[in-house]
Amino acid sequence: MIAENIAIVKEKIAEACKKSGRDASSVTLISVSKTKPVPMLEEAYAAGSRDFGENKVQEMCDKMEVLPADIRWHMIGHLQTNKVKYISGKTYLIHSVDTYHLAQAIEKEAVKNGCISDVLIEINAAGEESKFGTSDMAANTELIKQVSALEHVRVKGLMTIAPMTDDPESNRKYFAALREFSLKPEFKDCFDGTPLLSMGMTGDYTVAVEEGADFVRVGTGIFGERDYGVHV
Ligand SMILES: *Cc1c(COP(=O)(O)O)cnc(C)c1O
Repeated sequence: MIAENIAIVKEKIAEACKKSGRDASSVTLISVSKTKPVPMLEEAYAAGSRDFGENKVQEMCDKMEVLPADIRWHMIGHLQTNKVKYISGKTYLIHSVDTYHLAQAIEKEAVKNGCISDVLIEINAAGEESKFGTSDMAANTELIKQVSALEHVRVKGLMTIAPMTDDPESNRKYFAALREFSLKPEFKDCFDGTPLLSMGMTGDYTVAVEEGADFVRVGTGIFGERDYGVHV
């Protein structure tokens, strides 16, 4: 079931790449495994998945302990400064840097651990109140510049969570705008190479790939619906 789903998602990514003249190997599929039990992650791992996304520090750490060491862990959820110490040096990429305060905490822990932390700046593309980050692009510009000046934090690109919708086409404008924003000449020295974009979820990842996503974050499309009933 999970292996089948991964194959379907990969096929759709390949189609979207073909449609937009991209190389399918340039897109990383992140299996978003939040709330899902370890055996389901093991199934995804057996099917070839090496990138997993979690949104809670404790849950991510618990899973890290029992799963293979070659997994690349992506923190995709809101991160509190006091929890940074638990994941510093252990994540492949933190997608959710939305304040300079948080970036400073990541810097501080990275210094302690003698590591460099790779991060994305989270942008609130549609300005939704329920989401983290801001849609004020002047503020986002300032944030990118500030964070990129930190010595132990490397800004790899941008992340956004587009609105929930039944019509993925309606999110295309947000994905296109994020890409355009990331390529502003004034960011020339801010990103570590070509800026990477984390955008697209189960409902809209093909549109995101067409608009240049480097990382797509797919949960439901791989593991099925989430049941929050037992967790909250
Ligand atoms: C849960 C989550 C996803 C995956 O959502 P699906 O719609 O289940 O694919 C992607 N990104 C973030 C930030 C999430 O919290």
